[in-house]
Amino acid sequence: MAKRDYYEVIGVQKNASKSEIKKAYRKLALKYHPDKNPAKDAEEKFKEISEAYAVLYDDEKRRLFDQYGHAGIDQRYSYEDIFRGADFSEIFRGRGFDFNFGFDDIFERFFGHRMSFDRGYPRKRRGADLRYDVEINLEDAYRGLETTIRVPRSETCDNCNGSGAKPGTSPKNCPQCNGTGQMRISRRTAFGMFTQVTTCGKCHGQGTFIEERCPECNGKGILQKTRGIELKIPRGVDDGSQLRLAGEGEAGGGGSGDLYVVIHVKKHSEFNRRGHDLHMVKNITFPEAAIGTKIDVDTFNGKVEKLRIPEGTQNGDILKIRGKGMPDLYGRGQGDLYIEINVITPKKLTRRAKKLLEELNDEFKNL
Ligand SMILES: [Zn+2]
Ligand SMILES: [Zn+2]
Repeated sequence: MAKRDYYEVIGVQKNASKSEIKKAYRKLALKYHPDKNPAKDAEEKFKEISEAYAVLYDDEKRRLFDQYGHAGIDQRYSYEDIFRGADFSEIFRGRGFDFNFGFDDIFERFFGHRMSFDRGYPRKRRGADLRYDVEINLEDAYRGLETTIRVPRSETCDNCNGSGAKPGTSPKNCPQCNGTGQMRISRRTAFGMFTQVTTCGKCHGQGTFIEERCPECNGKGILQKTRGIELKIPRGVDDGSQLRLAGEGEAGGGGSGDLYVVIHVKKHSEFNRRGHDLHMVKNITFPEAAIGTKIDVDTFNGKVEKLRIPEGTQNGDILKIRGKGMPDLYGRGQGDLYIEINVITPKKLTRRAKKLLEELNDEFKNL
C-alpha cells in the first residue's frame, strides 16, 4: 500500500507550525494509543501518525519530505532513524499513562527490540551496512539520474523465512541456557559468591537452536545474492555525496542493514565545478575582445546561451551567466556559470592579415 502524505495523516496544512503539528499529533495519538484503543488497527494507525509526527516535527526531515516526498525520507533514513530524536515522552507526560512513555518504549513496541542498547543477553543482530560506489558524469549530476545498480549482498532465505529451520519446523528455545544465550556459573569462595557469565556453547548466544536445518541456507537463514536495486540520484549531487537506502544492506536476524551509495562525479572536459557554480574558459580573438561580440555557450539544460562580450574585454576577464550553474541538492536555487575569457594571439597569419595588423598597429600609434 502506498504511504499516505504525512500532512494528510496528521491532518494539518502544509504550512502548519510546529505547535499545530504537535497539537494535532497529540490529539490523534491519544485516540489511537494501543493501550487506550482496543481496535485492531489502532497500533498500525498509531505507528503511521507517529512516523508522520517524527518527520514533520523535525526541521531537516520535514524539509526533505517537502522537497522529495517519501523518497527523500526513505533514501536517507532507516525506519528506525525516522523516529530517532523525536521526543514522544513529552507528548504524553501527565496524560494519565501509567508508564513512562518514552522513546525507548515506543520503539520497542514498534520494532520489537531496543535500538540503542541491548541490556540483557545478545539478541539477533541487525545485518551489516553496505557501501556501493557509483561513478556518474557531471551532466547526470546536473539532471539527476535513475539507474539500477547490482549489489551483491546477503538476503533472508525465502525457503525458511530467515529462521534457518527446515520449513514446517521452527527453532527451539535453547534448553541449555533457557533461551537467554548465557550461562551463569556461580562459585562460592572465601570472599563471597562469584558469578561468571559465559556465552552458551550450545546455541552460541542466540538463545535458540535448530534441530533440522533449512537445506537451502544450511541453517544460516541468509543467502548470498546479487540483486538489481533501483537508484534515484537526485539532481545536484556532488562528488562524495552519499545516498542511504534503508534496509537494502545485508540481511540479519534483527533486520537488514542499510546500503550507502557513494557518488563520484567525473571531471568534465569543459566545465569545472566549484560548489554550486560552474566555471569554463572560452577563447575569443583579439578583434572580438576589442570590438565586442556575442558567443554561444553550451549549458547542461540543453539550451545554448548567448553571451555578450563587451567591447574592451581583457584576457582573463570573467563573465557570469546567472542561474546556469549546478542545481542545489535541496532545491534551493541554482548556482551561476562563470566564463573566463581567453584572448587568443594568432600564431599564423596570412599576408593580408599581417598587413591589416600592421595598419592597425600604425593606427594605435595615433591614438
Ligand atoms: Zn533457509
Ligand atoms: Zn543456549
